[in-house]
Amino acid sequence: MKGRKSSLWFCCAYGVTILALLAGIILGNRAVTVISENLPIHRSHMIILDPGHGGTDGGATSCSGVLESKYNLEIAIRLDDLFHLLGYDTKMTRRSDVSIHTQGSTIAQQKVSDLRERVKICNETENGLLISIHQNMYPEANCSGAQIFYPDTPGSRELAKALQEKMRLNLDPENNRTAQQGRGIYLLEELQITGVLVECGFISNPREDALLKTDRYQKQICAVIASAMIDYMTNP
Ligand SMILES: [Zn+2]
Repeated sequence: MKGRKSSLWFCCAYGVTILALLAGIILGNRAVTVISENLPIHRSHMIILDPGHGGTDGGATSCSGVLESKYNLEIAIRLDDLFHLLGYDTKMTRRSDVSIHTQGSTIAQQKVSDLRERVKICNETENGLLISIHQNMYPEANCSGAQIFYPDTPGSRELAKALQEKMRLNLDPENNRTAQQGRGIYLLEELQITGVLVECGFISNPREDALLKTDRYQKQICAVIASAMIDYMTNP
């Protein structure tokens, strides 16, 4: 019941925003600002969107030859747009195809520096809530399904489990993966705030790779993630 109530709330908020946009088209941008400022939204958190990898570190390469970093950025930008539309505050660790390292002359050193910078951004953000976006890969092409990893910080496990269940219900009822603590994942080991790392799917699986490339599936993923985050922020 809780899920139904919260998705209804999400639909309502979404509906109001669509009305705001329509009003904006008719009345000008001022109307959108006025309406969205008056939405009953909990601005308790700064949502940090972290598209994994970037620049010289492309992450995994899909079975169709596309770098993971590209999918991560596309999905994170869509999430950024969606949260803005709904009136939430966000910041992104990167908005283009770059590494955010500040030190190092070799690629390996730069990768370490890049990860440290991401951790720093997260831990220095007051009331930060992290969503790190990645894609999975495995040598066997038939592996599939989104999976959520979480750090050992307050609320993260519950948030990850709720998001994993929403992913199963809304994207792939056959997905029986479970949310796991991200042991050995540097970003999650060092994180001091609540957050999740979302492996949206396996880009080594031709079916899932093809889906992950589409606007429609990327938007569906974003809607599910945003819904879980809004549930958490509304009732942490
Ligand atoms: Zn990755």
